[in-house]
Amino acid sequence: PIGVIGHVANLFGARVKKTEIKAVAGVDLQVRRGEVVGIVGESGCGKSTVARMLAGISSLSAGEISYQGVRLPDMTREQRRAFDLGVQMIFQDPFASLNPRMRVVDIIGEPAVVHGIVKSSEKRDYVIELMEKVGLSGAYADRYPHQFSGGQRQRIGIARALAVKPSILICDEAVAALDVSIQAQVLNLFMDLREEFDLTYLFISHNLGVVEHISDRVVIMYLGKAVEVASTEDLFDNPNHPYTRLLLDQLPLLEARERDYQPIIGELPSPLDPPPGCPFHPRCPHVMDRCRSEMPQLLPVGPDRVSACHLNAPV
Ligand code: SF4
Ligand code: MG
Repeated sequence: PIGVIGHVANLFGARVKKTEIKAVAGVDLQVRRGEVVGIVGESGCGKSTVARMLAGISSLSAGEISYQGVRLPDMTREQRRAFDLGVQMIFQDPFASLNPRMRVVDIIGEPAVVHGIVKSSEKRDYVIELMEKVGLSGAYADRYPHQFSGGQRQRIGIARALAVKPSILICDEAVAALDVSIQAQVLNLFMDLREEFDLTYLFISHNLGVVEHISDRVVIMYLGKAVEVASTEDLFDNPNHPYTRLLLDQLPLLEARERDYQPIIGELPSPLDPPPGCPFHPRCPHVMDRCRSEMPQLLPVGPDRVSACHLNAPV
């Protein structure tokens, strides 16, 4: 069913080897070109694991990823190289991923030179142009990472990703470490770059407000499983899954706190040892008998949306 640039499919059918998480999600997700898909869930729900698998950093033992119509294991070297360059990650803490002993001109420009995207002699001009596109002055090209603020370092990380001409950016809590005012600036930057560079995003965050702002479609995860997938509009206007509804109820609280805030809805069980039946049943206000033993499947609950809850499939 795949075959268009920017498609990453069956991602969520994947399992992590040696299992930090037993099963990651069980939904076939096709990311459409140019789309922003938000992946939401509390800490520890497996979002980062999914991100790492999608980017090809962690290996899969089941499930599959396709890129531009080709499954990962079937790729030729050239296709695998195109995947590695085409799917780039933006991390929460850019500082940890920026070599402190390298100048920004090399941090941003070296990968592009190594992969033959620019000649060594053109690197500086290429980097300066990218720096300006992400809102940094090219005059800072010879500085080191520690000479920049957190928001500027995130911009360096973004420029470095853009330098290899990706089609998909996977952003894992990419604004979570930033002050709220800076978060908005960086989110706006992502949106501007989407147009200019024809980018597709997977935007992973525990912050529903951030995801609402940026996403076209949202995947709600709970304990390593997708429990609801819907367009942002449908999800926020008319949430289906009880867990989604609980998250949305927390949203005003989250906004009132202003700072990045983790909603607390009772204890989060370990994804390693999820409860039997519906993984959400110990926290669900609508729990029924069958929820304790029978795992609900993702079923259509409207055009282009699915949800995994027994309330949608009465016996
Ligand atoms: Fe709640 Fe049952 Fe639906 Fe799970 S399946 S979300 S426990 S009502
Ligand atoms: Mg994480």
